[in-house]
Amino acid sequence: MNQLEQQIKDFVDRDFDALVSLRREFHRHPELGREEHWTAARIEEELGKLDLPHHRCAETGVVAYVDGKSEGPAPLTADGRSRCMALRADIDALPLTELRETAYTSNIPGRMHACGHDVHLTSLLGTARALQAHRDLFAGRVILIFQPSEENGFGGRRMVEEGAVNGATRCFGFHIAPELKCGTLGLMEGANNASVDWFRMTIRGEGTHAAYPHQGADALYMAAQVVVAAQALVTRLNDPAQPLLLGFGRLEAGTTYNVVADKAVLEGTIRALDPAVRKDVIRRLEQLLQDTVTLYGGTASVEWDVNGEMLINTAEAVREARKVAVSLFGEDCLAVRKPALIGDDMSEYIDAVTGCYAFIGTQDPERPETAHPLHHACLDVDEEVFRVSVPMMTAYTLEYMRGEV
Ligand SMILES: [Zn+2]
Ligand SMILES: [Zn+2]
Repeated sequence: MNQLEQQIKDFVDRDFDALVSLRREFHRHPELGREEHWTAARIEEELGKLDLPHHRCAETGVVAYVDGKSEGPAPLTADGRSRCMALRADIDALPLTELRETAYTSNIPGRMHACGHDVHLTSLLGTARALQAHRDLFAGRVILIFQPSEENGFGGRRMVEEGAVNGATRCFGFHIAPELKCGTLGLMEGANNASVDWFRMTIRGEGTHAAYPHQGADALYMAAQVVVAAQALVTRLNDPAQPLLLGFGRLEAGTTYNVVADKAVLEGTIRALDPAVRKDVIRRLEQLLQDTVTLYGGTASVEWDVNGEMLINTAEAVREARKVAVSLFGEDCLAVRKPALIGDDMSEYIDAVTGCYAFIGTQDPERPETAHPLHHACLDVDEEVFRVSVPMMTAYTLEYMRGEV
């Protein structure tokens, strides 16, 4: 560990209790995507205390800037650009009722920070404080992105479209990882998170008496066939060594027990870690749907939307971040975290700017609630994570801006 890193760690140790109480405050006030009004205002209040310029972005998002005060010539990137780090945290919660009673249980029934975004945004506020306290040590601008609406794939795209990362030459962000012990980090090159495609199929048949099915066209039956047959696209037509998921989450059909359904609606998702696999399964699913409904006398249409692109960590940024992590926390801090078929729209930033995304462990083996998966109604975190997340973001940023990594 170098002297600067020690200084940052000491700063975070002094700020630790304040970070814990800030996180608990956010945890008590979870808000869904595009409704983060209280959260955004509270973030702005904290940024105001630091005198950091900031503005709203993507409705309920906030972008802030930390400007370095160092006189010296700022080191440029290899292609001659001014260095500019963009750090991103998502701020939205989930439509879930928290099932554990603690001093900081969600105050809002049916809403919970069950994906750790309270930890992400508190870490970024902690990083803002640490960077502002060390701004004599760098030149140039750091962008802090408090992104709304990650869970429904809206925020990242909108932040990038509205220019949040304009001028950035590097980006970094992280997600909590309950499967990793607190004190460890997963930092992997390449595909980390899957593409997330949403689809809705509408099948049209013809209603008739249940006793005369041959005189109608049973949309419910066609939908059921599609659900069952679609799994073979994964198990029979895809290379088993290639991760792929095809899931249906909603099926709606029919009005009563003795009428053949004239309409069925199916909603689902496709997750992949490879663009060719993704393209193939989309084509095959469309074909399966059309072949099935044609056989049974119906018609069908599909709507598609992309809720998130694959998150592919850039090798260069992973190398830099690993170097900083090992220097801060020692060789043993690097954990193996397998790619997952959950999505994360941090991909939008990494598609626009060279960057990477880390998984930071939040599990305390003594506390089983910290080992629940993301989106679990009993999930909690080991708050010691702030001694990892904030130094990691701060040190990587300072060392990048100073041209030391
Ligand atoms: Zn989530
Ligand atoms: Zn999340």
